[in-house]
Amino acid sequence: MISGIQHFVFCPRQWAFIHIEQSWKDNVKTFKGHKFHEKVDDPYAFEKRGERIISRSIPLISHKLCLKGISDCVEFHIRNDSLGVKISGRDGSYDIIPIEYKIGDIKNDESDISQLCVQAICLEEMFNTKIEKGYLYYGKLRRRVEVVFTNELRENVKSLVEKMKYYFENGITPKPCYKKHCKNCSLYDICLPKLNCKYDKVKNYINSHIEDS
Ligand code: SF4
Repeated sequence: MISGIQHFVFCPRQWAFIHIEQSWKDNVKTFKGHKFHEKVDDPYAFEKRGERIISRSIPLISHKLCLKGISDCVEFHIRNDSLGVKISGRDGSYDIIPIEYKIGDIKNDESDISQLCVQAICLEEMFNTKIEKGYLYYGKLRRRVEVVFTNELRENVKSLVEKMKYYFENGITPKPCYKKHCKNCSLYDICLPKLNCKYDKVKNYINSHIEDS
């Protein structure tokens, strides 16, 4: 699933708990996030504002990446030429701009950017077009932040998707690695990162002494 990439960037183990082991537990932060998205996700919303057509909850798919999901919002901006995509029943040609809504603030990692980029890659494949940029709307900032889909970002996203596929197909849940961000993880009690890290260290210590003796 497309939305999984944000979990994978945050922590591959968290992603595996959710998408391989089907374990999920909300905390206050994730609960607020779901509520925020309930307001945004309206599959019947399709409106025209000036030169823009706004569509919400468009199903997305990429056969090349073997991914699917739902967009928060896709805007179609009219162009002055005929080089954009055509929309059935509408005149003109359009640029496609994906938009993803986030309840909080800009993050220190690339989870949101990667999620938006993978949406753009799906839309490019679906509409046979090129998408240069998209926007992340942050509820806390009450504004959009532009994201340019550079080649570097695209390659990074494709490599993340390959890793996700490998873990998924082989049913691998990566080992825990305790970091600062674990404090914000709703799956902390399932993961027990500190305990599992200690257990691994003890296990390695015992194994090395068994091999030495
Ligand atoms: S507690 Fe830390 S290591 Fe465990 S799943 Fe969450 S972020 Fe990953």
